[in-house]
Amino acid sequence: MIVRNLYPGAMASNCYLLTVGSDAAVVDPSAPVADILSALRESGATLSAILLTHGHFDHLFSLKALRKATDAPVLIHANDADLPDDPEKNMFKRMFGMPRKFGAPDRVLQSGEEVLLGNEPIRVIHTPGHTAGSVCFLCNGEFLLTGDTLFADSCGRTDLYSGDEEAMFASLHRLRALPSDLCIYPGHGDPALLGQALDNVIY
Ligand SMILES: [Zn+2]
Ligand SMILES: [Zn+2]
Repeated sequence: MIVRNLYPGAMASNCYLLTVGSDAAVVDPSAPVADILSALRESGATLSAILLTHGHFDHLFSLKALRKATDAPVLIHANDADLPDDPEKNMFKRMFGMPRKFGAPDRVLQSGEEVLLGNEPIRVIHTPGHTAGSVCFLCNGEFLLTGDTLFADSCGRTDLYSGDEEAMFASLHRLRALPSDLCIYPGHGDPALLGQALDNVIY
């Protein structure tokens, strides 16, 4: 599986394009939709799913436009299913003082489920804490997309809607079960090695 960050160094979240042969998925469509569509064209792959690590607005800016342009289904963990379309819960209103809705998902994800991209599995690992429905995506066992659960040198905040500090630490401890040399691609900032990133936040 190939991963490419379409929105590095941006104010919003990282936006990842995953491809396996002629199949593509976009994780957290924060980048301008024109950039996402041109990256898809370049890759020659067809978008089969829009995956969300959680329901905060900074990961969703192009969600509506991308879904409209591609008809690809939007998938998010069941516990965050109501966030994208709820301006209070997705934090947009708190940040900008006005509501913005991003639409309801097409399907909800459960922990442990595998979404196939081409013939390679993307495993959903439920990691509540930043939000109740935050997940990490383990991509064919090759790398881990961590959303706002784990960054290179910190973990996500737990003081927003449905955040839970105890759940966050339990989630981080569960990630210890994965290989420490696994590369993580976080929702914000640079990639890192899982073991080193965990060492920065738990002991
Ligand atoms: Zn974020
Ligand atoms: Zn977030």
